[in-house]
Amino acid sequence: MRFDVTVLGCGAATPTERYQPTSQILNISEKWYLLDAGEGVQIALRSQRVPFQKIEQVFISHMHGDHVLGLPGLIGSMNLLGRRRPLILHGPVVLERWLMECLRLTSTYLNFELEFSVNNQDQIDTCWLDGDIQVLSAPVKHRVEAYGYRFNWTPKLLNLKKQQVEAFDLTRSEVIQLKNGQNVQRENGQLLIVEEMCYTLNPGLSYVFSGDTAPCVSLDELAEGANLLYHEATFMESLSIRAKQTGHSTSRQAANTALKAGVDTLLLGHFSSRYRSLKGLLDEAFEVFESVQLAEEKTCYDVQSFCRI
Ligand SMILES: [Zn+2]
Ligand SMILES: [Zn+2]
Repeated sequence: MRFDVTVLGCGAATPTERYQPTSQILNISEKWYLLDAGEGVQIALRSQRVPFQKIEQVFISHMHGDHVLGLPGLIGSMNLLGRRRPLILHGPVVLERWLMECLRLTSTYLNFELEFSVNNQDQIDTCWLDGDIQVLSAPVKHRVEAYGYRFNWTPKLLNLKKQQVEAFDLTRSEVIQLKNGQNVQRENGQLLIVEEMCYTLNPGLSYVFSGDTAPCVSLDELAEGANLLYHEATFMESLSIRAKQTGHSTSRQAANTALKAGVDTLLLGHFSSRYRSLKGLLDEAFEVFESVQLAEEKTCYDVQSFCRI
């Protein structure tokens, strides 16, 4: 059982020797989701030993090159490597037209289906539901149509306390019932209550990705109570006017969002190459919100480990 996020690229705008453009790979209980696909995404995935064909879904925040230019190449490679299963892509409405034109003009003929799912432009909405995994998209505030995403995972199966299994001599069907969160009523009138038989009910885990955005209400709502929020922090406060003009955030604004939303931990990313040291970004955020870290590439973050409960 795992829910982790590996940052593949956390640089802004252009690839540098230090940082790759944005992309992340999520593993939620062995479901693999790619979040954005900046240039270099294939190499980054290989370095993390993620087989391309395991990726089931791609979630694109917006159509700026530093978030999508790695996608046609990745899809071409999936094809060359023999993919047959469909790939589901979520994002802005223009994603399909752009990608299909890219593939057509590069004579890339796929042996598998691309299924496009267009995000709701007006409000927070569920864009994917798969058993105990729910993905929400939210329109955010950038220079172009852009989205943040929230990944909620609520494992349905609970862990039984071993001593209770023995003490009550549970049958197989009783075990299944309790693990599914249902109380057991025995014929002799005895009631076995889930909360007493199992470890604390799991409130679920959640991860939020801001995409590129200036502060906005929909992101505040999307991030509410999340365990981990990855938020872009392109600028320091001294360039707040530039941040506003370009539809980005300062690290302090990211911290404000984390504070308002009551997240457990804030992970800053989308670093501008203008800052040699990122300490200033971290310090300005820390003045507002103390549970904050700078994202690091090729680093795997276990969402459970940020859970304060
Ligand atoms: Zn960007
Ligand atoms: Zn952008």
